[in-house]
Amino acid sequence: MLEQEEKALCGRLESVRRRLDDAVRASGRKQEDVTLVAVSKFHPAAAVEALARLAGHAVFGESYVQEAQEKQQALAGLALSWHFIGHVQSRKARDVAGRFALVHTVDSEKLACKLHQAVQPPDGEQPEGARTVQDVLVQVNIGCEPQKSGVAAGDGLLRLADAVAGMSGLRLRGLMCMPPLTCQGEEARPYFAQLRGLRDSLEQRLGMRLPHLSMGMSHDFEQAVAEGATLVRVGTDIFGERSPR
Ligand SMILES: *Cc1c(COP(=O)(O)O)cnc(C)c1O
Repeated sequence: MLEQEEKALCGRLESVRRRLDDAVRASGRKQEDVTLVAVSKFHPAAAVEALARLAGHAVFGESYVQEAQEKQQALAGLALSWHFIGHVQSRKARDVAGRFALVHTVDSEKLACKLHQAVQPPDGEQPEGARTVQDVLVQVNIGCEPQKSGVAAGDGLLRLADAVAGMSGLRLRGLMCMPPLTCQGEEARPYFAQLRGLRDSLEQRLGMRLPHLSMGMSHDFEQAVAEGATLVRVGTDIFGERSPR
């Protein structure tokens, strides 16, 4: 990357960090309670490397399996924490399981089973370097949009969370959502509040702590922080617009 581009990139990260700090402070929360996941999909490994080396950023989110694998390999020398935030097709579960610090998008029992089996295969053949327990979030289709992934809030969520909590290869850490695209900023806020409510009642039902709420993107992460987000996923405001692939 050109030095000029790197500078602009670090400047945008700096400004997102400032907005995040302000939001955290305004909601009376602690900085260490909210993690910024820099969503690097469609952007080159060089951009990730620049943020890691020049700005000390270590947490990155990817949405596509092959693209994620390529960047992980290219940047294997850096101590980065990779999150998977895209839809996982069941047949790709093997390529995801054990290879990310957190998978945000478990949305079916079938996928959960495949991830569990991939990290703890019945034949004991563990892929080298992979985790044996995969931290996951359950993705909730909070706006009930037919075209969106995620489990419906209600019985579906209860059943899925219950199943995931019972799989030794998976550690359920919380919930993730994407409000309808048309709802940005303050309009997204009721959805974030709803996800927090779902998490709180799930904690009661399952009798376990679910510390994470993955919610908020470039246009609405401040509102998400106000409603309790612990992971915000910011792409555009850090990396710039994504060009279509
Ligand atoms: C691409 C993506 C983001 C980043 O969105 P921006 O609006 O670019 O900040 C966040 N979450 C998910 C699930 C994504 O796919």
